Amino acid sequence: MTKYVFVTGGVVSGLGKGITASSLALLLKSRGYKVFMQKFDPYINVDPGTMSPFQHGEVFVTADGTETDLDLGHYERFIDEELNYTSNITTGKIYSSVIEKERHGDYLGATVQIVPHITNEIKNKIYEAGTSSNADIVITEIGGTVGDIESQAFIEALRQMRNEQGRENTLFVHTTLVPFIYGSNELKTKPTQHSVMDLRGMGIQPDIIVCRAPVELDENLKAKISLFCSVPVENVIDSVDVKNIYQIPINYYNQKMDEIVLKQFNLDIKKSNLSEWQQLINTVNNLNNEIEISLVGKYIELHDAYISVVESLKHAGYFYKTKININWVDSEKLEDEVDLDKIFKNSKGILVPGGFGNRGIEGKIKAIQYAREKNIPFLGLCLGLQLAVIEFARNVCGLKEASSTEFDELCQDPIIDLMADQKSIVNMGGTLRLGNYECHLKKNTLAYKDYNQEFILERHRHRYEVNNKYRDILEKNGLVISGINDKSDLVEIIEYPKHPHFIACQFHPEFKSRPTKPHPLFKSFIKASIDKK
Ligand code: GLN
Repeated sequence: MTKYVFVTGGVVSGLGKGITASSLALLLKSRGYKVFMQKFDPYINVDPGTMSPFQHGEVFVTADGTETDLDLGHYERFIDEELNYTSNITTGKIYSSVIEKERHGDYLGATVQIVPHITNEIKNKIYEAGTSSNADIVITEIGGTVGDIESQAFIEALRQMRNEQGRENTLFVHTTLVPFIYGSNELKTKPTQHSVMDLRGMGIQPDIIVCRAPVELDENLKAKISLFCSVPVENVIDSVDVKNIYQIPINYYNQKMDEIVLKQFNLDIKKSNLSEWQQLINTVNNLNNEIEISLVGKYIELHDAYISVVESLKHAGYFYKTKININWVDSEKLEDEVDLDKIFKNSKGILVPGGFGNRGIEGKIKAIQYAREKNIPFLGLCLGLQLAVIEFARNVCGLKEASSTEFDELCQDPIIDLMADQKSIVNMGGTLRLGNYECHLKKNTLAYKDYNQEFILERHRHRYEVNNKYRDILEKNGLVISGINDKSDLVEIIEYPKHPHFIACQFHPEFKSRPTKPHPLFKSFIKASIDKK
């Protein structure tokens, strides 16, 4: 039978609830339990797929093609388990499914209400996470802060779950802030007390309180929180600010957080194996080299928009004991820049990530041309592939008008175009080419060398494709199509062997990189960048 942990947040947002949830999951997994994770987002969008990256940061895509919150990226990177459609539930998802049932007549006779219909739907989604994953423990993070109007139905559903399942099957972790007040130079517990009062007002007594603080909490302070918030003192866990987020699971382990959970669930406290994780921390704390990589994008003011890309670069860096410094280059500003040498002066590699719409496109194309002509290692992701192909068509094949129909519907040479089955689509939400598709790698190519296998599965999120009508001319001019999807005959990877390291993929490898298992494409890109003279 599956057990359920719920992680709520109090006082302020941005406390690192996602990292707390992931860290606990990692600890439980390292004791041999199968763990699955889920996040509730209290907004009305059905998923974040239609939101601007400026609003929301990256959209993380799971293997089954669900567009999800970026916290799921942390989850997968920490626990290295594939999450699925049950892993990110929004208010919009809940309401649309209840309304659909109402129209279908499933509630005939009843007045459809928040309690019980919406709360039942929420509980069903929690149970579904358990059954679809067959996990021993599901950890559900509730987005937002306790007390928000938006999240009330979720909190109420959790209260009911505790009532139905009991303490030995459900556990509440509440994360709060313990601020340090300069002047009096002390940590203050009052915000924690008040946010626990809010939670209790909604019928939930937390079992564990995680206190984010700039320094460790001493025993007196823990005792005070224990007294006011009615949790045993050992269940007050401190979460001090750290330089390296991978340290957080270890800090929780030292305070026996996973043991507290297992005890409450009456589960065996099996031996923990954290050696791989310890090794990772060692590596991260002892990097002995550093290089700069330029990331050319249009959402660079919000680094969260590229979080998985940045993490993947770091992971590959860890493998080579190298710290990766990112040179954030605004693609729009690049359009009028004449001195590219100055911009890329210190960079050993150039990466062009995914994106939508035509703003900043010409700047990215300029960066790609620069990388190609100056022999700088290049990695293009999704839109980065599409633009690399456009650049090549324009500047090597002589097709000066080459473009994508995404930017110019009537362009003379639509090197990048919509797939036939995308042309009739009217709804924007959830209709991109999403999730895992197979890619067949061509032998004797860089891609094949990197993966060292013939068939790979990678996650996608795009609507446009390389136009097969132009494959001949591209190949005649030296571009190698090193990965294709056999079923639909779609280009998945391109490379340019006349260059020391020029490769781009239509999929998003950044979703599959893990701190202890860097992705092959990132690994070889970083290696080439390190080796660049
Ligand atoms: N805008 C492009 C497309 O839809 C690329 C998408 C992306 O980079 N994720 O095909």
